[in-house]
Amino acid sequence: MKRFFAPVTTEAATKKPRRVFNPTIETFPSISPTSSTIEVSSITPQSTSSSNDKVYLLNQSQQETAKCCVYNEWLEIPGILTKLRTRSTQGKLLKGVIAFDLDGTIITTKSGKKFPVSEDDWKFWHPSVPEILQLKSSEGYLLAFLSNQGGLEKKTENAGFKRKVDAIIERIGVPIDFICSLQKDVYRKPCTGMWEFLSIALWEKHFENSATNKIEYLYVGDAAGRPASGTRSKDFSDTDLKLAINLGIEFQTPEKFFLNSTQSIHTSISISNAFPSMRLSDWANNESAVSWELMLQEMASSTNHKEIILLVAPPACGKSTLARAFASQYGYFRINQDELGTIQKCMQVAKENILLGKSLVIDNTNLNKNTRLQWIAFAKEFNYQIRCINIKLSKDLCMLLSTYRLLNPFTLPQDRRKIETVVFHKFYKELEFPTLSEGYDRVDSIGWIPQLPINSASSPISYDATETISSRLVHRLYTMYIK
Ligand SMILES: [Mg+2]
Repeated sequence: MKRFFAPVTTEAATKKPRRVFNPTIETFPSISPTSSTIEVSSITPQSTSSSNDKVYLLNQSQQETAKCCVYNEWLEIPGILTKLRTRSTQGKLLKGVIAFDLDGTIITTKSGKKFPVSEDDWKFWHPSVPEILQLKSSEGYLLAFLSNQGGLEKKTENAGFKRKVDAIIERIGVPIDFICSLQKDVYRKPCTGMWEFLSIALWEKHFENSATNKIEYLYVGDAAGRPASGTRSKDFSDTDLKLAINLGIEFQTPEKFFLNSTQSIHTSISISNAFPSMRLSDWANNESAVSWELMLQEMASSTNHKEIILLVAPPACGKSTLARAFASQYGYFRINQDELGTIQKCMQVAKENILLGKSLVIDNTNLNKNTRLQWIAFAKEFNYQIRCINIKLSKDLCMLLSTYRLLNPFTLPQDRRKIETVVFHKFYKELEFPTLSEGYDRVDSIGWIPQLPINSASSPISYDATETISSRLVHRLYTMYIK
């Protein structure tokens, strides 16, 4: 397993112990797992333990590209636009890396408009910005700007944007690496791809032989999920804060970094209960949940009666995997409307399997009472018992799982589907909770979460609602989280 920020195994790496560029994944901010709100002016990681169990989010080819990057030239590489700078660090005591968001952190518009009207429509976020960056550079910090620029992808001509960035860095007067993401992929904040790219491309080289004992890492950005306060309007997102969390490094707002403001961030992290040390059952946060283990035991002892299991479950919660487990372990026949097309076709296939004496699992969201009533009537017609299993997970968690599944290189090809955000909103808006009075023999509400494959496509997927989630998995989930 590769270290998160170490280069892919090289001769040098195996010969001698070396300093690795290594913010650790275990260093999450000290936020109570049960709290959804934090009130701090900056976030500092808890510890700096190291681990070998780290992986790059960038794939092999992206890592290779980073290693071969040239300096002082604009490069357009799939997903990013970047310009790295050479700098002389010889004889300098390097302290660390400070990376910044660009818009709303380093610069703002001169026109006062939300988006710049021309390439000259910029000014420093505060007059002190250049001076402070010069100071930090002279103190031995490597500086970089990491910017999400989804809009650039649509433009055929990025020359104006490049000139603007060059002008900004020239005015500051010290070498600053620039990188921006162009698509919704591993490079886009809060994914860690841009940071990894710069780390592989040049930062590691600077720190390889550094005499520095402790390398400091800091990320500064304005997208911290803050509510409106005084004259400042609400932050448009929290992707900068989440990037720092994903990296396990310190985070500061521009107010804190440039103005030394003590104003609190006071933000909420919507998936805060996904922090390490949480147990899956806590994560699912459902006290009345039937554990997966108990459910399996019960299935094993009740395989004699014929039944239809009707899943009521949000998109991307793992219901198909669950249904496939019913099929492979207990011989249930899995019915999926996405695959069969219509409910009529589903019922036809269901009937064929009932005639073969099989129990069935209906693997759909089944959010409407009307749809469910059709299945209840169907079960009664064939004298089958009908059990409803209602999987209860938060919308945020399902969206996160969906992104994880989409970007995880180990996801099976048939499961790699992009689910639009609107689908999740629709489910939670329109969901009619199933009740016993609809006519089921029983209704189980479970809060469960699949442990997704992270090592190998062939590794078995296991489910255990009581298992402690590994911090590595949580890290990956965070990393994959895209709003
Ligand atoms: Mg910004």
